[in-house]
Amino acid sequence: MSADLSLFNREAALLVQQYPELEHVMIKGKIPFVHGQLLLKDEAGDVITEYSIRMEPGPDYPNWFPWVFETGGRIPINIDWHIFENKGNCCIASAPEEALICRKGITLTSFVRFQVIPYFFNQLHRERMGFFLNERSHGNLGHLEFFMEEFETKDLSIVIKLLNEARSRKEPKSNSRCICGSKRKYQKCHRPAVRKIAALTNMELDHYLKIANDFIRDRKVPKEESITNF
Ligand SMILES: [Zn+2]
Ligand SMILES: [Zn+2]
Repeated sequence: MSADLSLFNREAALLVQQYPELEHVMIKGKIPFVHGQLLLKDEAGDVITEYSIRMEPGPDYPNWFPWVFETGGRIPINIDWHIFENKGNCCIASAPEEALICRKGITLTSFVRFQVIPYFFNQLHRERMGFFLNERSHGNLGHLEFFMEEFETKDLSIVIKLLNEARSRKEPKSNSRCICGSKRKYQKCHRPAVRKIAALTNMELDHYLKIANDFIRDRKVPKEESITNF
């Protein structure tokens, strides 16, 4: 797999129209990128602060997010700050979340608006308040936390039931009781969440089911493996 660079270039041209503090750079024979200032604005539209950023298509745009780098030296290159220490790019979402967002279809503009700007708002929050809002763990535990949020449960055995439901590729009748044990009808309970998660591939669902089952069996997080290593 490789990134669709011409798509990236077309979308970057649209992005910089909406975000004129960003610049689209194309150099023959090199990977294109976008760089410049990302302005964070309040509800009145006034600029609160700005971050220097650089955005590259990464290895597999648009199947995965582009890579985003903070280039002003304002954020430490430290995973505790949600910056990956190997490449220095921003840790924007957990792998299953990123996969689902990309599968629904992203553009550079929607990515900046709904992912990058909230990420930097959260960085600003950490800078000012000393902690992140709604922070998720890294690695496999973070993946499970994502599913717990989506299924609105802290019970991993329910997460496993619902992941199995998504993996089965057939839905229970709408009026039957939800498999989570809530006694509510499936359609009024977990159907929307299961449908959303069912956009993951069989391979991905099997991967996350294994993580969840291993976690329950070992009562600990297995060693981190990346879903992108498949
Ligand atoms: Zn992170
Ligand atoms: Zn339910």
